Order: sequence, then structure tokens, then C-alpha cells
Amino acid sequence: MGRVYNFSAGPAVLPVEVLQEAADEMLDYRGSGQSVMEMSHRSKVYDNIIKEAEADLRKLLAVPDNYKILFLQGGASQQFAAIPMNLMKNRKAGYVLTGQWAKKAFSEAKIYGEAVELASSADKTFSYIPDCSDLPITDDMDYVYICENNTIYGTKYWQLPDTKGKLLVADQSSCFLSEPVDVLKYGLIMAGVQKNVGPAGVVIVIVREDLITDDVLPGTPTMLKYKTQADNDSLYNTPPCYGIYICGKVFKWIMKNGGLEGMQKINQEKAAILYDFLDSSKMFHGTVVKEDRSLMNVPFVTDSEELNAKFIAEATAAGFVNLKGHRSVGGMRASIYNAMPIEGVKKLVEFMDKFEKENS
Ligand SMILES: *Cc1c(COP(=O)(O)O)cnc(C)c1O
Repeated sequence: MGRVYNFSAGPAVLPVEVLQEAADEMLDYRGSGQSVMEMSHRSKVYDNIIKEAEADLRKLLAVPDNYKILFLQGGASQQFAAIPMNLMKNRKAGYVLTGQWAKKAFSEAKIYGEAVELASSADKTFSYIPDCSDLPITDDMDYVYICENNTIYGTKYWQLPDTKGKLLVADQSSCFLSEPVDVLKYGLIMAGVQKNVGPAGVVIVIVREDLITDDVLPGTPTMLKYKTQADNDSLYNTPPCYGIYICGKVFKWIMKNGGLEGMQKINQEKAAILYDFLDSSKMFHGTVVKEDRSLMNVPFVTDSEELNAKFIAEATAAGFVNLKGHRSVGGMRASIYNAMPIEGVKKLVEFMDKFEKENS
């Protein structure tokens, strides 16, 4: 039995060192005689785990002191509601629609107020990022919302929108910790961790302190109020303890591997290997305009459904798994998050090259 090269969009590959360490600590976490799964979230030993995870993330991302880091439950999708509940003071916000996740956030926000479509790339199956240099942002909008890396379509904002002074709120689920980020440019960043950081069930919210208030929409559940979570250091109720512990290990793994600069460098290298091949191949084509290509999610197709299916079947048999594209795009998608080793991408490209020669 060996490990496969896992190109899943999420839940996704984690660093093998992290999994090994977690396995070693499974029955007895550092002399506590318990698994992290079994210990009280109010214990000293667990308190150290969550505090250290937070401190490491703060260091990694250079999160300024006036931003809170919250480890919450409910995934990124829960935040689609929590964001308007906490931030839509005027009940109006602008959304840029760049794919399914942005659309879902947009629909959810409409439950709570006026969500305005500022721009969209739906006309070309979300294969590009719309021009965001002069969006129709009005004074009464509480924030501008983007999905910064579009997991399904494989696009990424390489330049943030001009929000005309309004708060920027970003779903970074599938690019979180893949490169350095200037947190000061955002009012709020959120990321479901199962793409690049840890096991599903944890969502990280980084939010500017002045946005954390009691002035939330009527009916906001206690659990969804950022103030509740911030006042209790993410320990208002039982947090996703084990997931946070694994996230903490991934933060340390990133620090050991050059921090976010290190991640960016290797991620650029990995993506270039795959995109260069796609650009030179006569059989496989990328589906996204070059200037908006994601470093994390790489969708590609051949000209035939039959060939796509054959490729996926043969790739799976050869140990390259979860390459089937999202049902709304078809074809293939290789997600090459932080933990995908560069050999995985090199070997995938060798396999694609061989497949192309055998089938043309
Ligand atoms: C996966 C994903 C989501 C949904 O995450 P859940 O944790 O399943 O709610 C939202 N946004 C983006 C960009 C994603 O990639």
C-alpha cells in the first residue's frame, strides 16, 4: 500500500509529516495519556494547542494586532450568512460573481438585505475575473464581497478590486496560506480549512476588531455573532478541537518550509509545470484566461468527453486520483495545494504527455 497523488479540490491532501506526527500522538498526546480528540477543551493542555495555533497563524500571515483570529465551525458556507448578519448594518452590500461559491454567498446575503451584483463573469462560464477597477459601488454599501480564488473554475484575483473605500470581505478558502497576503487590505478574510490547511469542520475568520460589535442584525444566533466568539477566544462552546490541532501542525509545517514566501515560490513552480504543459499540448487545454489562472486549482479539458473519461480512468489506475472536474465544468481539474509535492505535478505531466502520445 502506498499513498496516491491526490488532486482533490477538497477535502484535500495534507502534508505527510503532519499526518505521521498526528498518528504518533494519537493514543498519548505528549504524555497526557489521552488523544487530543478525548481531552477537555477547557484543559491546560488543549488551551496551549489552540493558543499556539493562533499565535503561529498570526506570525505566518503577519496578522496585525487589531485583527482577531477565530476558529469556528460550520465551514465557509456558514460564513455566507454570518458575514451579512454581522456586517450588513445598512442592509446593503456588493458582490462580485466569479463562480458557484460567490453565487452561493450572494444568494445567502439576499436573505438578510440587498445584495447587489457588482460584476460577473457568468457570460463566459466564469473563466475570467471581471474588471474590478470601477465597480458600481454606492455609499450605502456595507462591504464588497469577493471569492478570491475560485476553486471550481480555477481563477484567482491577482489584483484586488477597488472598493472605493468600502470594506473588502474575501472568501480565501482555496488560496489561504498559499502566498503572502496584506491583511490590512481586508475587513474580513474567511477560509474553510479543508482546501489548504486541515480537516473539514473548521473555518478560520480573520476580522478587524472594530467590526466586531453587538450591533448585528436582529435574530442573529449567539453562535454566529463574531463578538460571542471573539470574547471567548473561539471557546464559547466546544470548538472543533481535533481539527484545530491539525491546523496548528500545518502552520508549523509551513513555517518550517519557508513560510508564505516559501509556499508562494513552490506553488508558482508547480503551477508553471502544469500550465506550460497545457499551453504546449495539442490534446489538453486549460479552460481559464491566462492572466487570471489560479495557482491552486487547474481545470483542463480535451476536445472529447470520451477521451476525458479515458484519461481520468487511466490516471486513477496509475495513482493520480480525484482528477475529475467539477460537474458544472466537466473535464478535469488538478488541485495542487501547498501539500501537493512538486514530484506529484511532474509525474502527472509525464503521465499526461504519455497519454497524449498514445492516444493521438
Ligand atoms: C469549498 C469552498 C467553500 C465551501 O466550504 P464548506 O466548508 O464546505 O462550506 C466555499 N468557498 C470556497 C472558495 C470553497 O473552495
